[in-house]
Parts: sequence; structure tokens; C-alpha cells
Amino acid sequence: IINSKIPHILVVPFPAQGHVKPLMKLSRQIAKHGIKVTFVNIESVHEKIVSAAKRSDEVDEDEDEEHNIAMTSIPEGISSEDDKSDTFKLLESLRSTMPGFLTDLIERINSTNGDEKISCVIADVTIGWILETAEKMGAEPVVFMPSSAAAFAMALHIPKLLEEGSLDENGTITKDETISLSENIPSWTKNELCWSFSNDLKTQKLFFDCSLRVQKAAYQTKLLLCNTSQELEPSACNLIPNSLPIGPLLNLKTPKSSFISCNFHPEDESCISWLNNKPSKSVIYVSFGSLAIFSQQQLDELALGLELSGHAFLWVVRSDLANGSQFGKIVEWAPQVKVLSHVSVGCFLSHCGWNSTLEGLSNGVPFLCWPYFADQYHNQNYVCDKWGTGLRIDSDENGIRTRYEIKKKIDMLSCDDVLKGNALKMKEICDKSVGEGGSSYRNFEMFIDHLRK
Ligand code: UDP
Repeated sequence: IINSKIPHILVVPFPAQGHVKPLMKLSRQIAKHGIKVTFVNIESVHEKIVSAAKRSDEVDEDEDEEHNIAMTSIPEGISSEDDKSDTFKLLESLRSTMPGFLTDLIERINSTNGDEKISCVIADVTIGWILETAEKMGAEPVVFMPSSAAAFAMALHIPKLLEEGSLDENGTITKDETISLSENIPSWTKNELCWSFSNDLKTQKLFFDCSLRVQKAAYQTKLLLCNTSQELEPSACNLIPNSLPIGPLLNLKTPKSSFISCNFHPEDESCISWLNNKPSKSVIYVSFGSLAIFSQQQLDELALGLELSGHAFLWVVRSDLANGSQFGKIVEWAPQVKVLSHVSVGCFLSHCGWNSTLEGLSNGVPFLCWPYFADQYHNQNYVCDKWGTGLRIDSDENGIRTRYEIKKKIDMLSCDDVLKGNALKMKEICDKSVGEGGSSYRNFEMFIDHLRK
């Protein structure tokens, strides 16, 4: 035997819900192949997951892969609670402290498990700087991109755009009205670049610098895992050297331990029995992911718009969805993938986070798009303009999506058979990519072979 080492992968997500969940999906797929995974969260995230799991409804299904996943945590290097929710301080702290904490962790694992030393580190591109730590510790660095390949391609393009003068040093578009990378990828207007959502230039610069660093991480690794497929984003995938599209990553069966779901909020399964009593494709599922925050006025308009539409709806109202709202909750956190695959769901009113976008597409559910920030505007353009599976809910001149606009778009979607047909076609395309022999399936097999070598 040339190499008797058992592969052991360390997976390190950026500490946000939309980053932790897809990396856990990836980890479960890897573990299913008998490869050991250690999944590392920062302590505050780890605590959220533990607490949500304790309060979640228990589901009882058995899964082999769970035995191969160890969950662990490292400190975030910040002691004050206020500072933990300050993105600047958290990012700064992660940059300065993560390499040290991860080095200690890898040393500890390597010294206790002689046969199971860390052979590879998969890092979220957002914290790509830890790949240097991986290399120093003798592990192969691999990057994971949790957003679209288009967002990745755009980040890789920044140096060229700076050189041409199309972007200034804060990431603001200077010359042209839009930036286009290829005619098959929706172009970006000034407010659609994923770092340009804030009116505050300091925040924009922080996120722009993060995107710039994607560059470095991308060239440090031979493998860039993308949660997309060649069929969904052919042009964008072709613009990224070394890209390995392995998506859309799906939820395998519901895990036995809610811990493995990595939810930051407890899942409320009661909505599934509620859905069971509704007619086929009759329910609008409304969810804005984990980060969007609304004004009370906007929240009221949405509630009134849904009511005005006359359709049944299932609405995820996180306890922190509104600024100071007293709004009664409908469901605080849904088992979203289960909901989207339910026959009663006919439409997904979504903020178009990349995970939600993939989950809607994979289940053939048409979208009503309500982007909030970051890459969500660009994802909306994919949904509405490239894949033809959704309609935009537009804001009025005061930046409000009114109840009348909401009702109008619900009505339009209800009778748009072309759009519904496209949604079903996209489901087929996704199924084919990840199904046996499909492009993402083959790429994933290649990756597993690579890990074993
Ligand atoms: N999600 C969920 N239950 C909910 C709302 C969201 O499980 O009630 C999951 C959703 O399935 C997705 C993730 O949370 O996997 C949100 O990621 P996304 O990229 O869509 O949005 P973000 O939270 O990053 O804005």
C-alpha cells in the first residue's frame, strides 16, 4: 500500500447561516463516501446551532454519514457581545486570530489521531486567508464558493476592472452604467455589485476588500468547488480557472441529529402538517433567509399584500426580521427544503440568497423576487432574465414594495404557464446535473477520488 492514510478533511465555513449550511451539505456528501470530516465553527455559531437543535422537533431517521462528521469550535477572539455582532470587528478578529486557533486545532487532531491526520482543508472563500495555514500544516487547501459562479468570476475580474478604471478603489463603478463579463451572464449595475449594497462607503470598502481577497485564495488552490452546475452557469464556470461545479448541493435525507442541520434557529416542523392539508401548488412560501431586516412599514405592506392576494401563504418571520416590530410570528424558521419540495407549494417569494435560489430551482418552484442585498440582485437577474422562472416585485419611488405591487405580481405569476413550465425545466436540469452520470455528479466523484489519493 502506497498511502495508508485515511483522508480527514477539515471544513471551515464563514460564520453566517447561508455559508454554514451549504458547507454542511458538502460535508455530509463527503462523509457518505466514508471520509472523515471535522467541521469547525466559531464558538458563538456553535452555541446557536446547539441551542437551535435542542429546541427543534426531533426527527428520527438514520444516516450513516453522521458518524463520520465531528463538529467542533474555535474561539472568535472577541469577548464583548456587542463586538461579536459588529461585522468589521468580527472580520478583523477572524483574520488575526483564526490562523492561530486553526493551527492549534490541527496540531491537536494530528497528534491524537495518528492515522487520521488532516489531509485537506476546505475553506469558504470569504475566509480564504486560512488556506495559508492549511499549507503550512501540510494539508491541501481547497476553496469553496457558496455564491454563484458569476459572483466568483466577478471577484476574479476586479484587478482588471481597477486597471481599466471601470471601478475605483472603493469598488464603485466609474465609467459605464453596467459591468458585463459575458453576454450569457446578467450584467451588473451600480447597485447590484455584491459589495455595493451599503450607502456607507466604509462598509462598501470592507466588502469590496473581501471580494478582492477572493483572488488570492483562488490562486492558492488547485481546486475551486462551486455550488452551481455547468448547465446552470456555463459562461461563468468557463471564466473561472480550476472551477469544479458540484452543485446544486442538496440536502440528503433529514439528519437524525438536528445538530447536523446547522440551523441557527429551531426548525418548526408544524408547517409541514399544515401544508399537508392544502391543495396542490396553492401556497406561497415567503422567506427572506437569515439576514434581511425590514422596516415596520415594509412588513405591514407585505402582510397586507399577502392578505389582498387571497392565497394561502406560509411565512417565515424570524424574531429579528423587523426593526422593533411586535408582529406575531407565523413560523420562526422552516425546514425550507422540505417546504419547497412539498406539493402544496406553488410559489417562492424569496430574497434570492444563492442557497434559496438553488433550493427553489431544484424543486421546480417559480419565484417572486425580493432581493435585499449583496449578490441577491444579481441572482434575481438570473432567475428573471436568464432562466425565466420568476418575476420581480418592484419598489416604488420611496423604496417600498407596496401591497398592490405584491398582489399584482402574485396574480401575474398565478396565470403565467410559461414561467411555471420554465421552473419545471430548470428542475430537470438541476436533477440531471447532480444525478448519476451528470456533470456535477462526475465532478464530485473526481473530487472524492482526489481526496483519497
Ligand atoms: N432556511 C431555512 N429555513 C428558513 C429560512 C431559510 O432552513 O426558514 C435556509 C435556507 O434553506 C438556506 C439558508 O437558510 O439554505 C439561507 O441561505 P440563503 O443563501 O438563501 O440566504 P442568506 O440567509 O444567506 O441571506
